[in-house]
Amino acid sequence: MVISEISRTDAQIAETEATVAHNYAPLPVVIERGEGAWGTDVEGRRYLDLLAAYSALNFGHRHPRLVAAAHSQLDQLTLTSRAFHNDLLGTFAAELASLCGMDVVLPMNTGAEAVETAIKLARKWGYERKGVPADRATIVVMGGNFHGRTTTIVSFSDDPVARDGFGPFTPGFLRVPFGDAAAVEAAIDDDTVAVLLEPIQGEAGVIIPPDGFLREVRRVCSERDVLMLADEIQSGLGRTGRTFACDHEAVVPDVYILGKALGGGIVPLSAVVARREMMEVFQPGVHGSTFGGNPLACAVGLEVIAMLRTGEFQARAAALGVVLADTLASFSDARVSGFRARGLWAGIDVVGRTGREVCEGLARRGVLAKDTHGATIRLAPPLVIERHELEWALEQLRDELAA
Ligand SMILES: *Cc1c(COP(=O)(O)O)cnc(C)c1O
Repeated sequence: MVISEISRTDAQIAETEATVAHNYAPLPVVIERGEGAWGTDVEGRRYLDLLAAYSALNFGHRHPRLVAAAHSQLDQLTLTSRAFHNDLLGTFAAELASLCGMDVVLPMNTGAEAVETAIKLARKWGYERKGVPADRATIVVMGGNFHGRTTTIVSFSDDPVARDGFGPFTPGFLRVPFGDAAAVEAAIDDDTVAVLLEPIQGEAGVIIPPDGFLREVRRVCSERDVLMLADEIQSGLGRTGRTFACDHEAVVPDVYILGKALGGGIVPLSAVVARREMMEVFQPGVHGSTFGGNPLACAVGLEVIAMLRTGEFQARAAALGVVLADTLASFSDARVSGFRARGLWAGIDVVGRTGREVCEGLARRGVLAKDTHGATIRLAPPLVIERHELEWALEQLRDELAA
């Protein structure tokens, strides 16, 4: 009997399966190197990355400007904790606040931490400024939401997979159908401190609300003295062809929640960005993070902001988004029951096969994408992707769907 040598791919997967908690089910691809829109696996096969780490890699793998910023900061200073000042945090915050048209930044690390921070901000603001009686504050959230994985955040998820087995849950959240402004308005009472939403729901399958929904929520929040919290962790920073997904409706929320691409695909970096009078509820000791605002993250974040300031990435997402949407519209109805696209972001509902099967087939063709909720494939290519690369990847998708 010939015992064939186990491949490096299989060896890596076996070791991972044996030693890493099974809280993910990754595609059987082991990436070793990344550059721009491409990843290379341990056997030297190349893949066009159409997931871009759920938008954390908006600028692609190892963008030279971001890598240079990180390298030079590594030689300078990496961490002080917030017990002391560092020389970059103020500049980073000023630049980010200005990008958002806001005043003050609270830096954290992961997206879920930033969402938690925004929830704390809204509750404290509600008690101290709006006069909501103690422990009565409610926050209106959307059906199909995804805001992260902490116990409080899964408390208001309606996804049983994310939620079941993790109770008891945090009270104080009221869920209404996404896109239904009348339901948002009806859910608001004197104890409501905030409406928390993703302007476009990524994890749910790139769900775009009806035009006017964000404007209506903005109007209702202003009229009823309720904070509008926009979780732009996945939708923001260029993905949809604008700096923020809220920009498509010319809506400015009270609070931006940012993460993912803010760290340039190099470091975890998230932030809550708001007006001064709201952020003043945070006084020393009330909230914090050991790594939040560290100088390495600030150096990368500053470069990210400088790159967004050029407008180049938003313009690429908008222009290539037309190619993406037009190509998807040309796909035969037999294999696709629907799709939604905005900028370089799309959710495609497949029929006849699971999204997982299609993504496995795509990987064999050299394209990486991710299924969500069974029958949907999410595409979120790095904004640095070239038009011919995108067209090639969509050809692979067309062929795979026809296979
Ligand atoms: C990814 C994501 C989060 C959570 O971010 P983590 O960094 O994984 O904690 C929150 N909200 C939205 C909209 C996201 O896409």
